[in-house]
Amino acid sequence: MNTEILVNLAYIGSSILFIVGLKMLGSPDTARRGNLLSSSGMLLAVLITLLDQNIIDYRYIAGGLLAGSIVGYFAATKVKMTSMPEMVAIFNGFGGIASLLVGSAEFISGVFDNPAFLGAIFLTVLIGGVTFTGSIIAYGKLSEVISGKPYLYKGQQFVNGLLLLAIVIIGINMLFIQGFISSEQTLILLIALAFILGVLFVIPIGGADMPVVIALLNSFSGLAACAAGFVILNNVLIVAGALVGASGLILTNIMCKAMNRSLANVLFSGFGAAPDASDDAAQEQGEVKPISAEDAYLILEAATSVLIVPGYGMAVAQAQHTVRELGELLEENGTEVKYAIHPVAGRMPGHMNVLLAEANVSYDVLVEPEDVNPIMDTVDVCMVIGANDVVNPDAKENEGSPIYGMPIIEVDNSKTVFVLKRSMASGFAGIQNPLFFKSNTRMLFGDAKETVSTLVSEFKG
Ligand code: NDP
Repeated sequence: MNTEILVNLAYIGSSILFIVGLKMLGSPDTARRGNLLSSSGMLLAVLITLLDQNIIDYRYIAGGLLAGSIVGYFAATKVKMTSMPEMVAIFNGFGGIASLLVGSAEFISGVFDNPAFLGAIFLTVLIGGVTFTGSIIAYGKLSEVISGKPYLYKGQQFVNGLLLLAIVIIGINMLFIQGFISSEQTLILLIALAFILGVLFVIPIGGADMPVVIALLNSFSGLAACAAGFVILNNVLIVAGALVGASGLILTNIMCKAMNRSLANVLFSGFGAAPDASDDAAQEQGEVKPISAEDAYLILEAATSVLIVPGYGMAVAQAQHTVRELGELLEENGTEVKYAIHPVAGRMPGHMNVLLAEANVSYDVLVEPEDVNPIMDTVDVCMVIGANDVVNPDAKENEGSPIYGMPIIEVDNSKTVFVLKRSMASGFAGIQNPLFFKSNTRMLFGDAKETVSTLVSEFKG
């Protein structure tokens, strides 16, 4: 059997491992094994690619590996759990720029003879460039280096239209005419336009919609890699890129559904642009009712059902282990305890699931908003731990609210709500939350971990 057949058989093997691994990620019980399977598939693909010495001198590969590993090691060890979404955004960007460089190198090498091949190069450079700068802007918005507010200006659609037209012209020149501008100029222009498009694509999108944008950019990075696979005729890159592209799109769709918005609305509506007078709103809504942890304990002790609703603040406080301990103490006390997870709670898809799994909270006690909302009036106490936007009743009651229409966990319908947070500050969407002023809400001010620890101590006597 010749080497090419062996290499392709190994690639088919890794593709199968990717697909089966992805499928297993669909259930918490099999997710860890699925992750291991997919990683083994990737290891196999990398090893076979390196052994098939067609590519490049090992010294370059070793140099790249070393440089990348050093940067990756320091980035991964320094990053805080709460900054993971920024890290994901940057990684998407690196994926995009890597594909762009592969496409550019092939174009510069000049070894191509048909428009289909040039088409693949065009798509690799275009999607890779958009992914790169789009991800940098998403990173900037998430890390608050740049404002999370949507940046809208007059004539925006016109400018975008012109940009797209210029890209189409460059594409036609690259694919069919190859001459009315030189090939180097074509490439440089295409890269520049792709970079500008990436910036203009993400800059009008509000910070609260960044989860959708990150999922979409993740999909783009996969599509760019898939196109790069066609450029260098590497089958496993085509398959892996297509899988990332498709799963990113599915995730984007899930996130849009979670917000009850269409993708077009997320991308083009300038969500969050409406001015929000948080302080005035706070004044108008009346007084909040604080409660001490000791008094909250007495209510919890008498409750027959408690619903815990974690959010971004639980991640900041790293309170998940203490929360699990409280949950166990409540159960020992005869209380039914469930955890309601909103799909966009936290700062990355699955953020709360990851934290609760880390704290060994059983999957059986996790519930989705649509399961628990219809029976919310039977819940004695909802403990909102560092969540804000995902429990904001304005999403269902106030048509003027920028989050109107987003499904929420309707904790306000339960008998008593405890909100654990440090202050009256708003959440990610930057808007006031009327939940805090409702008659059945009690504010448990303080760091979530400290408050939950006090409750745990009370239970332990
Ligand atoms: P929010 O961002 O709405 O609110 C978090 C709350 O946590 C804040 O109001 C803050 O109030 C509180 N908090 C912060 N630190 C602590 C602490 N140490 N102890 C106690 N409370 C704390 O979070 P949600 O999870 O409700 O909503 C997620 C938001 O993030 C949504 O708008 C979503 O669209 C967006 N988003 C989601 C992503 C995802 O993929 N899941 C990615 C990017 C954005 P205070 O400062 O007063 O303590």
